[in-house]
Amino acid sequence: MQLYNKLSAKERAVLIEKAGKDRLTLSFYQYAKINNPQEFRDQLFLVWDTLDVLGRIYVANEGINGQLSLPADRFQEFKSHLDTIDFLKDIRLNIAIEQDNMSFLKLKVKVRNKIVADGLNDDTFDVTNKGVHVGAEKFNELIEDNDTVLVDMRNHYESEIGHFKNAVTPDVDTFRESLDIIEEDLKEHKEDKNLVMYCTGGIRCEKASAYFKHKGFKNVFQLEGGIIEYTRQIKENELENKFIGKNFVFDDRRAEKISDDVIAQCHQCGKPADVHTNCANDACHLLFIQCDECKVEMDNCCSTNCQDINALPYEEQKALRKGQGNSNDIFKKGRADYLPFKKDLRNIYDSLKKDKS
Ligand SMILES: [Zn+2]
Ligand SMILES: [Zn+2]
Repeated sequence: MQLYNKLSAKERAVLIEKAGKDRLTLSFYQYAKINNPQEFRDQLFLVWDTLDVLGRIYVANEGINGQLSLPADRFQEFKSHLDTIDFLKDIRLNIAIEQDNMSFLKLKVKVRNKIVADGLNDDTFDVTNKGVHVGAEKFNELIEDNDTVLVDMRNHYESEIGHFKNAVTPDVDTFRESLDIIEEDLKEHKEDKNLVMYCTGGIRCEKASAYFKHKGFKNVFQLEGGIIEYTRQIKENELENKFIGKNFVFDDRRAEKISDDVIAQCHQCGKPADVHTNCANDACHLLFIQCDECKVEMDNCCSTNCQDINALPYEEQKALRKGQGNSNDIFKKGRADYLPFKKDLRNIYDSLKKDKS
């Protein structure tokens, strides 16, 4: 019985290429009580491996959070399998707009303490007392209301390339950090403003909305299914799109274009750009925005220093890295003092100041 991925990303890419079949990229999550996450994880792996599912899935006592891809012609089988599991029956699957057959190259199903590393102690508040879930149409109405503060619950490198018009985009590296900043900045408005929040697929708002209610906010709303589901509803129901730029996603595609606006700039030269580069130096892997010209000039690196190291023979690079930890954890970064055009996104009071003046 094989319970773990055995192929390398490269070998997998060749197989996908050879198969020549369209793949679907999708994501879903569910908070549910799972008593034996390891056993559940093994069952999922066995079935999904036979369906040629690839992706990154977290399983915990509190539920499941998955981002994955699978051959389009096996979608029904996959769906039928989900329907055999109580808490996944008829679950909303967020299907990606831009398809990329190479969005995932391994199947990794991992048991974790939590399905989102939210840094919260869930015992201190009622996680089931959530905000009001709203769809795209109601959301559009709410965010035009003068008594609404719209908050982006994602991190700086996500909101930098795309966000809703007039949203507050806290300049944070982690979800946990944003909670305190938002609470502090909006403490005068716990009762008189609507706190409306959104994130990529809705999962972060599930906890955030309960947390803010616990902290005394009276009118808390969250965008159902996040930006992904919003975009789908906008298209299906021909509603006005109020999202500008790109939606950052956590797979190899990195982002989906939602509107044609390019709202960010190259961190190296300042030109309009919204494509993230993962610095080619294996000891760095900084995630930053780089335009096509700088990409060529800098050999996909974030600095001349990284460029020099990256140009060394592999063995020499390895020797230099010795003793340093693995820095593959790229999404934790996305900041460096030497990038002159990395924007400060802290604009939390803007929307409030506007209607006072
Ligand atoms: Zn540039
Ligand atoms: Zn670098």
